[in-house]
Amino acid sequence: MLIGAIEAGGTKFVCSVMDEFNETKDRCVIQTQKPEDTLAEVVDFFKDHPIESLGVGAFGPIDLNVKSDTYGTIKNTPKKEWKDFPLLDELKRIIGVPVAVDTDVNAACLGEFRFGAAEDVDSAMYITIGTGVGAGFVKDDEVFKGVTHPEMGHIKVKKMDGDTFRGSCPYHEDCIEGLVSGPAIEKRTGIKGADISVDDPVWETVAHYIAEALVNYTLVLCPERIIIGGGVMKQAHLYPLIRTEFKKILNDYIEIDDVETYITAPLLNDDQGVIGAAALSKDIRG
Ligand code: ADP
Ligand code: ZN
Repeated sequence: MLIGAIEAGGTKFVCSVMDEFNETKDRCVIQTQKPEDTLAEVVDFFKDHPIESLGVGAFGPIDLNVKSDTYGTIKNTPKKEWKDFPLLDELKRIIGVPVAVDTDVNAACLGEFRFGAAEDVDSAMYITIGTGVGAGFVKDDEVFKGVTHPEMGHIKVKKMDGDTFRGSCPYHEDCIEGLVSGPAIEKRTGIKGADISVDDPVWETVAHYIAEALVNYTLVLCPERIIIGGGVMKQAHLYPLIRTEFKKILNDYIEIDDVETYITAPLLNDDQGVIGAAALSKDIRG
């Protein structure tokens, strides 16, 4: 029995065919181009594999309101060719199997929840800090959604005294994405994150803002674990800095047993999105 999974990102689509034990049988990476060209390559890949269903973790925003006429349609993305593209319906049509869709971060959260860093708890958040900032929340094996998927990457945090950086979010300037995403760090320093030395004071600023956001998420959701991934978190020295700031800001208001395990790195080696997408697809098969 084979299942299909796609991590549909803004720069690349990772397509995978897996068996029921998450064993990868085949995999390919497609550059994200215009929708028709990208999906033509997706079909080409899956046509050789008799998958029973397909799960997709997609870049967004995407309409995830099951009652909406445009359920599964990409919404207000800066990637103009994808705006209003009915991703779910098109994939169903061209692949011809049942398809489940969720956001990339919700899929990643489900992947880590079932098979990775949150396997031992009943609720967890996954946050990516990369080109953008996004987060998902899973409780009792279910991805949380309301009117649509949450947009936790765009919350406001208190600006540090003396910080004159205006932020990089085109919608809100200094929301958390506008302060700590890879492009935000590059705009602030003029240097790509990967090239900034580990002892540069900018990392303390970044860690402080991430900790502010984590305190807010903790106060609202009380997850049992927070997993932080994404390109910026390749700076592994950020984890201890974030934990220290988090403890200071939360000030014991909620008792967290062990911040070391509460705020942690992903365990699925950048495969959490595709593994989570496969998990979504298993769920529709029942
Ligand atoms: P995406 O968010 O597009 O899926 P990533 O999670 O890899 O992709 O994030 C890409 C962003 O992370 C870029 O803005 C890049 O500058 C930044 N980044 C990648 N590697 C590092 C690193 N080692 N240190 C700091 N920032 C990094
Ligand atoms: Zn924003």
